[in-house]
Amino acid sequence: MARCTVPAAEEILDKVYPVLDKGFVRLVDYMGSDQRIVQAARVSYGGGTKTLREDAGLIDYLLRNNHTSPFEQVVFTFHTKMPVFVARQWVRHRTARLNEISGRYSVMAQEFYEPALQDIAAQSTDNKQGRKNEPMENQQAQKVLESIQHIHKEAYDQYTSLLEEGTARELARVVLPLSLYTEWYWQIDLHNLFHFLHLRMDAHAQKEIRAYAQVMYELASKVCPLAFKSFEKHIKGGVRFSRNELEALKRLLAGKEHGLTGKDAARFQTKLDEGRQI
Ligand SMILES: Cc1cc2nc3c(=O)[nH]c(=O)nc-3n(C[C@H](O)[C@H](O)[C@H](O)COP(=O)(O)OP(=O)(O)OC[C@H]3O[C@@H](n4cnc5c(N)ncnc54)[C@H](O)[C@@H]3O)c2cc1C
Repeated sequence: MARCTVPAAEEILDKVYPVLDKGFVRLVDYMGSDQRIVQAARVSYGGGTKTLREDAGLIDYLLRNNHTSPFEQVVFTFHTKMPVFVARQWVRHRTARLNEISGRYSVMAQEFYEPALQDIAAQSTDNKQGRKNEPMENQQAQKVLESIQHIHKEAYDQYTSLLEEGTARELARVVLPLSLYTEWYWQIDLHNLFHFLHLRMDAHAQKEIRAYAQVMYELASKVCPLAFKSFEKHIKGGVRFSRNELEALKRLLAGKEHGLTGKDAARFQTKLDEGRQI
């Protein structure tokens, strides 16, 4: 079977899509497409490609029923540039292969993430891992930004002095903060990309990594639009209910009280509310 090329994907290939203040995402290469998913799936039955409608139906069936291996036949290579604190979250996705710029080999550029004023917010009181939805008052946000910029300058000045004094690059870099930009090539298959996107496009993920996930979602969906349509339908923004919660849902549908109490009730309500926002 011939190599899959998708005209819409060829158009965006290699283009740089800016993310945050200095970062980017670039789709370097892809292997496979919607066609490859159906070819791989139909190998089980010996059938070839059918009509677009039948292919869409098959892809949707596979995703809906967790027949995930045909999705592993599609592979993406991204080149991305992001702050180190974003890379720290990203690297937890162990099913990818990556190659990162070396601070032992290269002098790191003076490039640090400086949040936009509207992204500077106070610590959330109900989510220990996040910030409030509304930004800080402008003057206060400006002060935060100035502190960040001040430490960036200090740190980079120290880094440069250490290098000038002959300190090894691998040691001098320890003075650089988590906001420093790094770059890597990152390769992942579609099944695991869906997992990454499901977790990192979710409202619970940090805003900065969400910005990258959103761009990658848009680029990868050019390669296999049917699979992404099914992802949107069945996975993205989905909520998992426990057995108890499912029973509670059934009671609600029957017009009764859900019957959960305390923290169980609060968690259940949050899931219903999250579901409504989708
Ligand atoms: C909102 C949010 C908050 C988070 N907060 C924290 C935090 O505070 N601290 C923290 O440390 N992490 C945190 N994480 C990271 C999180 O715990 C996971 O490490 C990360 O989301 C990757 O998920 P994963 O392991 O399913 O993905 P992958 O590493 O891509 O793995 C995919 C799947 O493959 C399987 N798998 C892969 N490797 C192994 C293995 N070695 N053994 C068994 N199964 C494997 C698992 O089924 C796994 O689900 C957070 C993630 C999110 C989205």
